[in-house]
Amino acid sequence: MSNSRCPENRWSWVEINQSALRNNTRQFKNLLAPRVKMMCVVKADAYGHGAVKCARIMQTSGADQFAVATVDEGIELREAGIAKPILILSEPPISAIDALLEHDLMPSVYTMEFGLALGEAAAAADKVAEYHLAVDTGMTRIGVEWEEVVDFCAALDFHRGLKQAGMFTHFATADSLDNWDWALQFDHFKRAVEALREANLPTGLVHCDNTPGTMLHPEAQMDMCRVGIGLYGLHPAQSTMHVLNLEPVMSVKARVTRVVYPGIGDGVGYGLTYRVPKSNVQIATFPIGYADGLSRSLSNKMEVLCNGQRLQQVGRICMDQTMFAIDVNTNRLQPTYPVSYGDEVVIMGTDGEHSITADDMAAMRDTINYEVTCDFGLRLDKVYV
Ligand SMILES: *Cc1c(COP(=O)(O)O)cnc(C)c1O
Repeated sequence: MSNSRCPENRWSWVEINQSALRNNTRQFKNLLAPRVKMMCVVKADAYGHGAVKCARIMQTSGADQFAVATVDEGIELREAGIAKPILILSEPPISAIDALLEHDLMPSVYTMEFGLALGEAAAAADKVAEYHLAVDTGMTRIGVEWEEVVDFCAALDFHRGLKQAGMFTHFATADSLDNWDWALQFDHFKRAVEALREANLPTGLVHCDNTPGTMLHPEAQMDMCRVGIGLYGLHPAQSTMHVLNLEPVMSVKARVTRVVYPGIGDGVGYGLTYRVPKSNVQIATFPIGYADGLSRSLSNKMEVLCNGQRLQQVGRICMDQTMFAIDVNTNRLQPTYPVSYGDEVVIMGTDGEHSITADDMAAMRDTINYEVTCDFGLRLDKVYV
């Protein structure tokens, strides 16, 4: 049994390694040219890691600014005392403008409706609202079309309530090397920036690199990089793995809440999709389910680590409970030992010589590591070590 700190009321938790987060953040800061600012992306509760705690650590490890996805995420940081500039990575509805002004949050802007409403509201409150212009250079998601930025910005520039504090675009293919689509987007962005300068319109801080961009395209660092997944110790793609030696920040752990030796042929879980094939098979339960982000699609596929052993998960993953099997056999060259009530189970992380990574889980789920950590952030308590 290991001595991990665990929450009082539930034997399952997410463990956040603060020194790993600090080291990863510093590594990214060191990757940037000295004059380049680092915007740390803490959207979706810092990819499931806890936005306030993470932002506090990043603030002292090189973060110049923060980015979130929603106005409420920005308010949460402000109410926790985070004072650095905060960008909302998309344009909120007009009804959110009062909240933006009250909490000094910068929206992304890309519609004339919103830009004018922001300017009116700011001027009426005797404020100047800072915003970043989002530019669509080829991803077809958000932003002003790159050929139209001069018209767009000229139509807003007169407004005494507005200040363009930045402009950015987002790459659809930053993680692949030698990439024509990436180069085309970058070229469009540089032309949009240049067009604004020629028209004597302010650009503010110019930025486009995300984590894979920062790692693979240093020529696109410009004034600022927006770093997300890498801070949490995960690589956005195979292609970046050689650039930095990152340390995963999140582990997921639980304790065994029940053990039993069923009879041969007894079933496990909904649908009884696993049947005990022989005697001396122990079935253990731990209290994490798909409502905690342990995707049901992993049922009967994933493994867990317990007492330094790699063990097969069996039966369908339930909403709040999951079972695994121990084929107890102490006669073999590599014996398998039974587990006990209270033993620690590692669902994601390291136990002795074994590890299960977010990438392993993502591959089994046919998704990306980003979704794996976001999901584990949903309901489990977080323990910061
Ligand atoms: C999420 C996001 C990022 C961060 O992406 P990572 O791949 O996690 O570094 C940067 N920019 C924008 C616009 C985003 O939406």
